[in-house]
Amino acid sequence: MMQTITLTRPDDWHLHLRDGVALQTVVPHSAAQFGRAIVMPNLQPPITTAAAALAYRARIRAAVPPGVQFEPLMTLYLTDNLPADEIKRAVEAGVVAVKLYPAGATTHSDAGVTDLRKTWKTLEAMQRAGMPLLLHGEVTTPEVDIFDREAVFIERQLIPLRHDFPELKIVLEHITTREAVQYVNAADRFTGATLTAHHLLFNRNAIFTGASGAGLRPHYFCLPVLKREMHRQALLQAASSGSAKFFLGSDSAPHAAHLKESAVGCAGCYTAPVAMELYAQAFDSVGALDQLEAFASFNGADFYGLPRNSGHITLKRETWVVPESFAYDEALLKPLRSGETLPWRMV
Ligand SMILES: [Zn+2]
Repeated sequence: MMQTITLTRPDDWHLHLRDGVALQTVVPHSAAQFGRAIVMPNLQPPITTAAAALAYRARIRAAVPPGVQFEPLMTLYLTDNLPADEIKRAVEAGVVAVKLYPAGATTHSDAGVTDLRKTWKTLEAMQRAGMPLLLHGEVTTPEVDIFDREAVFIERQLIPLRHDFPELKIVLEHITTREAVQYVNAADRFTGATLTAHHLLFNRNAIFTGASGAGLRPHYFCLPVLKREMHRQALLQAASSGSAKFFLGSDSAPHAAHLKESAVGCAGCYTAPVAMELYAQAFDSVGALDQLEAFASFNGADFYGLPRNSGHITLKRETWVVPESFAYDEALLKPLRSGETLPWRMV
């Protein structure tokens, strides 16, 4: 049985860092594990210009602890009226991708796209520039069951979009269903997908199971929501299959604990401090630790056309207890698995 595993320094291809004082807590957690991260633009107001992305990048860099190498890779937020010529400025500024949130899909998505057809000119400019489109792939129409939103998005939105933009680089973010795995496996090299650690480790029972039976656990509530066990197994199989189309995106999303432990709790799992430990646990559960490096450290960089990292990290088979919480501005931030024992540890 493998006792330690050393990997090329991984990257997180889908991360929420928020802004302001929050950066002091969350940036060091990601920087301790990852060489780079694609930073989501869903601030309030959203990051919709290259200039705003550069200013945000400077605030993130200022929160990286001294002596630590961590490069935030910036994104723009696609709205109904993001002008096509902003793509040129974004490319020049080093922005790496554009994120599409269907309006109302998740945290701070009110400014999201109401109708994909309104974004055609911008998508054309992106396809020409080789700028990837990152999709939060869920429909938000109220008649669609929340557990079906992703599968319906693929049918109604993604298949027509792909037909119209055959060479647009698309990342289907945080996929959660067997249908998404099948779609990505069947697609060509212009399509990739990210997978979170929590969707690899937990099915939807986790939201409704307390320590001694029934209970509602808000820290397991995220969007897209956890799905049935058969979907979790399909995701784990895809992540550990060796296919270069699947890569790591934690979707770590900090919310103050009192905003999750509430009558209307926020969606998002804060996994940054334990991300690689959780991924190691997931890959180990199917005897696929030898596939972790490609998934975490190679496939994403290759898809984006960026160099692979040069440093390394090491994980050890050793139980440890995840901290209960971290100070977060004037509140507390609880990581997923807070106070629980994990089988793998970063050393
Ligand atoms: Zn996200």
